[in-house]
Amino acid sequence: MAENDRWDSEFDVVIAGAGGAGLAAAIEAAEAGARTAVFEKQGKIWESSTAINVGMVAFAGTDVQQRLGIEDSSELLYQDLLAVGNNKNDPSLVRAYADHQLDTYGWLKDLGVRWAEIATAAAGMSRPRGHFSDPLDMVRILKRQAEQRGATVLFHSAITELITDNQQRVIGVQMRDRVNETRIRARRGVVLATGGFAHSADRLAALDRRFVGLAATTGLGHTGDHLRMAEPLGAYFCDMEYVKPSYELHVTGDSAAEICLVFYLGAIIVNRHGRRFVNESIPYKDIGMASLDQPDGVGVMVFDQKIFDTAVENTRKASSVIPSENVVLGLDAARIRLLVQADTIEELADGIHVPRQVLKETVGRYNNSVASGADTEFGRSHLSASIGNPVRIETPPFYAYEAKSHFLATYAGLAVDASMRVLTDAGHIPGLYAAGEAIGGFHGASYHSGAAVGQALIFGRIAGRNAAQGS
Ligand SMILES: Cc1cc2nc3c(=O)[nH]c(=O)nc-3n(C[C@H](O)[C@H](O)[C@H](O)COP(=O)(O)OP(=O)(O)OC[C@H]3O[C@@H](n4cnc5c(N)ncnc54)[C@H](O)[C@@H]3O)c2cc1C
Repeated sequence: MAENDRWDSEFDVVIAGAGGAGLAAAIEAAEAGARTAVFEKQGKIWESSTAINVGMVAFAGTDVQQRLGIEDSSELLYQDLLAVGNNKNDPSLVRAYADHQLDTYGWLKDLGVRWAEIATAAAGMSRPRGHFSDPLDMVRILKRQAEQRGATVLFHSAITELITDNQQRVIGVQMRDRVNETRIRARRGVVLATGGFAHSADRLAALDRRFVGLAATTGLGHTGDHLRMAEPLGAYFCDMEYVKPSYELHVTGDSAAEICLVFYLGAIIVNRHGRRFVNESIPYKDIGMASLDQPDGVGVMVFDQKIFDTAVENTRKASSVIPSENVVLGLDAARIRLLVQADTIEELADGIHVPRQVLKETVGRYNNSVASGADTEFGRSHLSASIGNPVRIETPPFYAYEAKSHFLATYAGLAVDASMRVLTDAGHIPGLYAAGEAIGGFHGASYHSGAAVGQALIFGRIAGRNAAQGS
């Protein structure tokens, strides 16, 4: 769409999407004195992925970690992010995360976000650095803070097109609300903070036929509008080849409340034949790919009373600040109801419909490998990434959690530089920024837990500041 003289309204900075990235961008843009508007396609503040996620954010060197005696640093986080991304991630984006993460943690605290007094280990971490807050609380705080700085936040308002001038600079957007289509001028910049594309069946199917029919638990607005709008302007995409579902959702589940990561506390994962098929300490995205090739796409977490007790204790500790359903490294009452329980491994096998003898042998072999310190089958040497020692599954009663892969994010998208300018082969698109799950290049080949909300907030802030400069 080309420029003409008629605008229905004007702002300095226009932001598409009222999730973590968009609202963080709005606060920074408004703080910098820009007249700022956020347009959100969905109807309510609680419909973004940031609002419905489980609330784990990766920060290093925080006061919580210090009080828990965990030594961590931005540099270690930087190294871990590159390692888990198999060095396929853009080091300048990873550096931007590492450099700005601690400041963003403090910024959030100053805005009123409360963090639980725990730091958990999950995918890709060499230190326990998963920090938890109540995600819905967080987006409400961000929205309020953006509005207090003068930003306008409107719902039921989808950005449908980018408007450029003759020099291909983005100078505004087309917006559709429940009544009208309007043209909105963005004097300094437009930020695409529209999330990923887990609800675009066509894009997922084009990447891998095995993705067809998998559940998507992201915000419903994740339809890849940013890709559709920016590609005609020359934007290119990063990390598309690394899009993977995550393994962890109960076979009957459809939301964060049925996500369970007890394998990072020591559970093994077996298929419908009763056999292990993966190293359970690797990132859940990689387990997600492995489980796609198992019968019915199912992996069953198998564990004992010791692991159960640890998980229940995790929930108890974290639920003083965050909703108990968000403690994915724990077990709350609802998850406990989804467990199959039995006094012996043989009876557990009956409960999950796998051959008794095979499951007994699988658990026996695993226990021997824990005792000998060498998992010759799958190479598990830790509970999660490089943290914690595997434990024997031997204390009755025994438990099983039947799970499958799903898309909780796509983690691939628009190529950006460390200023969050949207890139083309020839440079960048003037006036256009992106942040959050809309971008690619940050995660690389796999995923470090908590880095998705982290980057939405950190990169959203950077995008908002730069858009306000019109740089
Ligand atoms: C169940 C679940 C659990 C998760 N757990 C974690 C976790 O513990 N830690 C972690 O780091 N990550 C987690 N993630 C991933 C993480 O939540 C997201 O990657 C991150 O919140 C994305 O932030 P965002 O601002 O980019 O997107 P969102 O927060 O989804 O915001 C994007 C918004 O843009 C809107 N939008 C889309 N298109 C348009 C348009 N054209 N016009 C206007 N608005 C539009 C969408 O409706 C949406 O509200 C989880 C995700 C899910 C679904």
